[in-house]
Amino acid sequence: MSSDSLITKRLDGKVALITGGASGLGECTAKLFVKNGAKVLIADIQDELGRSICQELGTENISYVHCDVTCESDVENAVNLAVSKYGKLDIMFNNAGIPGDSEVRVTHAGTEDFKRVFDINVLGGFLGAKYAARVMVPAKKGCILFTASLASKISFGLPHAYKASKHAVAGLTKRLSVELGEHGIRVNCISPNGIVTPMFQKAIGNVDKKQGEEMIAVSAVLKGTVLEPEDFAHAALYLASDDAKFISGVKLPVDGAYSVSNQSWKMGFAALSE
Ligand code: NAD
Repeated sequence: MSSDSLITKRLDGKVALITGGASGLGECTAKLFVKNGAKVLIADIQDELGRSICQELGTENISYVHCDVTCESDVENAVNLAVSKYGKLDIMFNNAGIPGDSEVRVTHAGTEDFKRVFDINVLGGFLGAKYAARVMVPAKKGCILFTASLASKISFGLPHAYKASKHAVAGLTKRLSVELGEHGIRVNCISPNGIVTPMFQKAIGNVDKKQGEEMIAVSAVLKGTVLEPEDFAHAALYLASDDAKFISGVKLPVDGAYSVSNQSWKMGFAALSE
């Protein structure tokens, strides 16, 4: 018996659409969902990467569609494709995101970067939820997920457009969980701390994986382990599965208690003892 057949398939028979699924957290989640019995459609703008993931897995249970989440017709098309190809849509994961310009200060900010970040991180997720809901409402069930961020809870130097956009994602989650609850649709978001992905590496100066993990480990509250894409993917798996059948309206932190700590006291004491 293969090791895969020994794993309980927690998404057996479910169909998922994952935006930003060609890289980083979305890619890792797509692979875990397939491993757990789901049929997955990856929607992204990195066509080569997206297709290569499907080839790598070598199963018809994963496929790729070009979809710019800021383009309403692309999002509508992606949802329609999931339904026509796999027969339904159970899980809509609005995960695509960008950090925006980390150098810009509010006094010198233009509006372009701010609008771009909101278009992808907020409007993109809104459109995903809109077209998914059109399919899920008649089915009277479904699960909509968003990727928020630790930035939706605390401030630690990330660009203001990014931070504001992730607050908006958390707000959208709350609103939609109530609006769509009467149709049996659950809506949640996941709020991770820094995880080494292409976005993270680029955002903090093209560090390699090891350097990135060391940076995260130094500031982590939870010691002895490193937050990895798989930890995020397992949180998504839980929220997408029937194990979470009464979980809705939640922002699930995947941050090892970082968001409930305040490291500045520690730093203050350390400075005093020097
Ligand atoms: P990533 O860059 O590896 O993946 C993001 C994916 O989104 C890419 O494949 C990219 O092509 C896609 N994308 C960007 N713009 C798009 C668009 N207009 N339409 C469709 N797809 C688009 O980054 P990641 O770290 O995996 O980020 C995934 C999500 O996690 C983002 O929403 C990000 O804000 C969030 N997040 C990441 C971290 C982290 O430290 N990595 C922490 C908190 C939250």
